[in-house]
Parts: sequence; C-alpha cells; structure tokens
Amino acid sequence: MNPISSTVLGVFSTSLTVKVFTICFVSVHVPLIVFIAYLASGFEARPGPVLGLLIGATVVGTGMCLSSLWWLIRPLRNLVAAVKTYHVDKTPIRMDLRQRDEIGLLATAVTTMVAEMETMVHRLRHQAMTDPLTGLGNRRWLGERTAEELARADRQSEPVSIVVFDLDRFKAINDNHGHDVGDKVLVTAAEVIRGCIRSGDLAARIGGEEFCILMPRAGRAEATAIAERLREALARTEVKPLPPGRMTASFGVYQALPGDGLQQMLRMSDKALYEAKASGRNCVRQAYQETENQPDFWTKKA
Ligand code: GH3
Ligand code: MG
Ligand code: MG
Repeated sequence: MNPISSTVLGVFSTSLTVKVFTICFVSVHVPLIVFIAYLASGFEARPGPVLGLLIGATVVGTGMCLSSLWWLIRPLRNLVAAVKTYHVDKTPIRMDLRQRDEIGLLATAVTTMVAEMETMVHRLRHQAMTDPLTGLGNRRWLGERTAEELARADRQSEPVSIVVFDLDRFKAINDNHGHDVGDKVLVTAAEVIRGCIRSGDLAARIGGEEFCILMPRAGRAEATAIAERLREALARTEVKPLPPGRMTASFGVYQALPGDGLQQMLRMSDKALYEAKASGRNCVRQAYQETENQPDFWTKKA
C-alpha cells in the first residue's frame, strides 16, 4: 500500500469525526450518484422513473447512513451496558477493543481505569483488614467475619467458639530486649498461631499483644483443646535472644450462646483470660454465662 493510502486509512480508522463525515457525505450523495449513473447509462430523464429512482436511492442512502452510524457507536452502547452491569454487581468490564477511534480509546480507558480501581480497592481493603506486623486479620476484619459466621452458625444450628489470648509479661520483653525483639515475638507468635488453627478458623491480632481466634463449628471442648495445643506450641517455640519457654500466653475460651455478638463473646472470653492471668499465666480458662452449667473440668496449668 502506498504512503498516501496508508495515511488516509490511518486517519479514517483512528478518527470518529472523519468516519461520521464520510458516512454522512456518501449517504447524502447516494441519490445524486445514482442519478448521474442513470443518465450516463443512456436512459431518458423522464419524470416518473427519475422520481422513483431518486426515492429508492434516498431510502438506500438513509438506510446506509443509519446502519453505519448504528454499527459505529455499537462499542459505546456496549460500554454503557458494561458500566451499568459493573455498578449493579461488580462484574468486570470486558470489551472487544479492536476499534482504534475515539470510541475505542474511551472504551479502553474506561476498562483500564475500572480494572485499576478494582485492584486498588482490593489492596486498600486488604490493608484496612490486615495487621501489618503479623499479617493476621485485625479487629475490623474480625468484626465483619464474625457477624457472617454467627449468622451462618445460627442458620445451621452449629456451635461457634472464641479464644482470646494475651502474651505473658510482654512489656518486660520490650523493656529488657528492645522493641524489635518484642516485634519478633509477635511475628513468631502469629506463625505459631497459623500452624495450630484449623482451616476455617479466623485468627486476628486485636490489640498490642492480644490475639483472638474465632472457631466456627467448634464447641467449648474442641476450642479449649485447640487453645491448649496453641499454648504448648507457643511455650515450646524459642525466640532468640529470649530464654527457651519465655514466649507464653494466657487464654480465655468461650462458646457463643444464641443471640451473642462479637462484643459479648469478647467480654466473656476476656473474663476467662483475666482468670488465666490471675491463676499464674500460661494456662487456659473457660468462661460460662450465668445461665449455663458450670464447667466440669478446668484445663491444666503448665
Ligand atoms: P501481662 O502478662 O499481664 O499481659 O503483662 P504484659 O506486660 O504482657 O502486659 P502490658 O499490658 O503491661 O504490656 C503490653 C505491652 O505491649 C506494652 C506495649 O508497649 C507493648 N506493645 C503493644 N503493641 C506492641 C507492638 O506492636 N510491638 C511491640 N514490640 N510492643 C508492643
Ligand atoms: Mg500481655
Ligand atoms: Mg495485653
């Protein structure tokens, strides 16, 4: 293809204005072109046939114009439909982006912007729900997920338990070894937690050295057994330069009653945690509502 044709083709394919002007110009002139061709073919210019020819050519020209414009703005209509769907149910915008004119560029820009926005929202949401030091969920995340889990447990009549635990004499670690070692203990504790929980359990850091595990489908006994396993695992784990057995925690366990929310569950498990601290730390205690049967066993102190 010679350079002039390729320039003209390039301008035509990238400019919506040129396309619209060309379509309108050609369509408007269809009757004139047909009339000239009619006369050039040697036909007589009699009023009846000429009028019929012009009416036919006008209809064809109008049809050509409308169908070409309809085809030209089809990606714009698809884009509007895709944006509406995205607004309703967040279905990602997918477009056939072969058109290189302004409509194609607009569709590409909107698709890219929405994809970037989705990625950013996803990242911000993750940041807003995650504790940056340990990578565990934070209190906000726990609040959202607990509401879902309690609703599900209620529908399916399944138990839900919560375990809250607090590292023992953690301030002394900071004071004696520095904040960095304190942070290392928190990160290590989070790794131990991840290794001990069941899939489906929700672990969060809900305060400075306070953690929480929400356990769907676990009754008090099972939650206590997991808490006991975790207590032993923490005490077993050495964090240099601390002496072996220095990373311990005290635990409070509570099984939700129908109608409990996260606040009530935290309040009850905090009571048990307080008892664990008062009993000398590094142990697991259970909490019961006054209406419940009292415990038939206490977990052992290490
Ligand atoms: P107890 O056994 O009664 O729980 O005593 P404790 O020393 O663990 O509890 P206390 O509440 O006195 O101290 C908690 C400390 O945790 C105080 C605070 O400086 C520290 N802390 C809170 N957040 C962080 C953190 O992100 N990193 C570090 N290194 N320390 C933190
Ligand atoms: Mg503590
Ligand atoms: Mg604390």
